[in-house]
Amino acid sequence: MASAPSSDDMFDQFLSQRGHDVEETGWEENYNKKQCPDCGGLHESTASQCSVCGWAPAH
Ligand SMILES: [Zn+2]
Repeated sequence: MASAPSSDDMFDQFLSQRGHDVEETGWEENYNKKQCPDCGGLHESTASQCSVCGWAPAH
């Protein structure tokens, strides 16, 4: 089976820095606690993930 020629170069160009369009998603703050922006659940400031709906902040 012949292997297809690598198209890494094309992909490199296509993916090369197109300006980040990343929306920074993080916890809401409420009464010194973290509030899940998804379900509104309150968590300790040490929480890294919502235990209610499973939401986690994008990194
Ligand atoms: Zn949640």
